[in-house]
Amino acid sequence: MIKRPKFIILLYHKIGKYPQHAKFPGLYVSGEDFDRQIKYLKKSGYSFLTLSELKSLYDYYYCAPLSPAAQNLTSKADLINESGKYASITFDDGSKSVYSEGFKIMSSNKIKAAVFMVSGLIGGINEWDMKNGENSDEMLNLTELQEMSQYGIEIGAHTLTHPRLTKITREEAYKEILLSKKNLEKLTGSDINFFAYPYGDYNEETEKLVKKAGFYGACVTKTGLVKKGADFFALKRIAIRHNTDFLKFKRKIFKVRLFY
Ligand SMILES: [Zn+2]
Repeated sequence: MIKRPKFIILLYHKIGKYPQHAKFPGLYVSGEDFDRQIKYLKKSGYSFLTLSELKSLYDYYYCAPLSPAAQNLTSKADLINESGKYASITFDDGSKSVYSEGFKIMSSNKIKAAVFMVSGLIGGINEWDMKNGENSDEMLNLTELQEMSQYGIEIGAHTLTHPRLTKITREEAYKEILLSKKNLEKLTGSDINFFAYPYGDYNEETEKLVKKAGFYGACVTKTGLVKKGADFFALKRIAIRHNTDFLKFKRKIFKVRLFY
């Protein structure tokens, strides 16, 4: 008998201790905290999935018509976890620290994850954040992206330049969405199936554009589980920040399972 599944998606940005002068310290989670959080989830029975795997299992559990992602997944049976608990770790933006600090932690714990890359800034710096007053910070370069992709980390799209999609024209928004997918597909040689809305800024129109571009789903920044009947183009997550200590982390996971 297969247990009713629980799917959670966690949201991170940068791995490392936040610099004292950081304008948005909430974007950082230290390596020690990250490692402890992964180990806690593993001990609690969670297995870790990419978002395409999550979609595949979700369709399987809820008998939805199988998406192309699900059909392509030959090892579905291997993904099924007796506990029914599944976690997907996601990183928005594509900060270099995901590779320099995070990758060794993920690979030593043998877990998968997803990185939403601002595709116009590969090998560059966080230009959009600097406009908001943040310090300069390096982004992942192509070699790092490719290495993580080969390991099994899913690369997702996060636009070309990180705009607020509801504040630009429909045409500009579609270009940001579609070209980020096409660029990354060309560069990584893999399908780019998932998207994350910059600043969690989206509406009905942006959802439509993401569907039209051929994605299987998109993540927002609202809190919640991926429940039966979930809108896959507005997938809720659990945000982890610099001040999410271990007790808070456990509470967040518990609360989201209980109330959302
Ligand atoms: Zn972002």
